[in-house]
Amino acid sequence: MNDISKRTYFALALAGILLFGIAAFVVRFFLYSDRWVTFSGSPHVYSSGNLNTGVVYDRSGLQLLDTEDGRTYAADSSTRRATVHLLGDREGNIPSQILSHYASTLVGYDKLSGTNHSSGTGELRLTVSAQVQAIALQALNGQKGTVGVYNYKTGEILCAVSSPSMDPDNPPQTVDDASGLYVYRMFHASYTPGSIYKLVTAQAAMETISDIETRAFTCTGSTVINGETITCPKAHGQLDFKQALASSCNCTFAHIALEVGARKLSEVSERIGVTDSFEFDGLYTKAGQFDLSGADDNALAWAGVGQYTDLVNPFQFMRYMGAVANGGSAAEPYLVAQAVNNGSVKYRAHTAMTGELIDERSAAKLQQMMRYNVEAIYGTWNFPDVQVCAKSGTAETGGGSNTATFAGFVLDSSYPLAFIVVVEEGGAGSSTCAPIAGTVLQACINLMDGER
Ligand SMILES: [Zn+2]
Repeated sequence: MNDISKRTYFALALAGILLFGIAAFVVRFFLYSDRWVTFSGSPHVYSSGNLNTGVVYDRSGLQLLDTEDGRTYAADSSTRRATVHLLGDREGNIPSQILSHYASTLVGYDKLSGTNHSSGTGELRLTVSAQVQAIALQALNGQKGTVGVYNYKTGEILCAVSSPSMDPDNPPQTVDDASGLYVYRMFHASYTPGSIYKLVTAQAAMETISDIETRAFTCTGSTVINGETITCPKAHGQLDFKQALASSCNCTFAHIALEVGARKLSEVSERIGVTDSFEFDGLYTKAGQFDLSGADDNALAWAGVGQYTDLVNPFQFMRYMGAVANGGSAAEPYLVAQAVNNGSVKYRAHTAMTGELIDERSAAKLQQMMRYNVEAIYGTWNFPDVQVCAKSGTAETGGGSNTATFAGFVLDSSYPLAFIVVVEEGGAGSSTCAPIAGTVLQACINLMDGER
């Protein structure tokens, strides 16, 4: 081979490498360029870690945020406080994962023309109502906690408020670390569930113990399991399955958990999503926990009444409530209805269904039992206009502190709403949380009536 043909091959090899490189770039450009443009360090798109381009509206068309020229929030302080965990703040202490997720649409990025403001401002329409969120934040009255409500037929989240909150136009100069001000509790916190977890144990019992609904139980106020005592606040006496749930009898549910067994309780906990993290609209929710590895019978009994090392995330439990209300499977919840750029819809939410979290027959039975809870214990006066089904929880979190929880749904095809209320250091679940749930559900009903 002479020198000329060697050079020819060498040149051809170089040209081949160059062509391969260009081809690889083009492929990556079309796959990833919108991410490159909207990466979180891009000064054209972000300031202090939060998105800088686009307008965000609530479900009623109320403008919540214009991110151009330094972030203009809603005019009203209570609206700003009720929505800051969704939108993020100027300093980037509260990140908005939703805005980041839809950044390329909001920025008006185009693969051919690039990032270009003349291509129009992005618009994001959320499913939440700022008015309902403000009412929920007010109902929480400065207590630490969260309120979530969603439509289990469509998946629209109407309310996902986190407290304490702050006014992004007037942020606090110093922040108490223990307050968790920057944490979006609905999606990024997990709690000891307490007695709302008896719903999960009841479901597991209905799936394994054929005569559970006709059993008779006796509560003497305490029971010894594996050498340690499990107690009730008082002796509940003779109870059937429905009354044991309504009275939230620890002794009865401890023995039900033992009979159901660790494997079945773990299987049901996984099926309903307790151990999962959910991803939607750029949010990654915090996974809960149901871990009985190495647990003795006493630990199993406590786990079955929502104590031990159990943890649930408010969003995932609200989703489970939707599935119970809807006969076993419900719409997957979401926060973004649509994203628009330059007048054209770039993204529109579609209703997707969960798998079967509970079988239809057990769901119907739980609906009846949770309705009985409201009629017999919590009081229908908290929910005058609609048929609410619910379960309360008062979780012991150590140091004499309680987390109050209240979860359930409206059984009404006109108002298919599932909800959860959590109040940290909140005392008893029903007395603290039921009035909050009543106030927020009424606000949702008024909103839905107004939209018809
Ligand atoms: Zn009892």
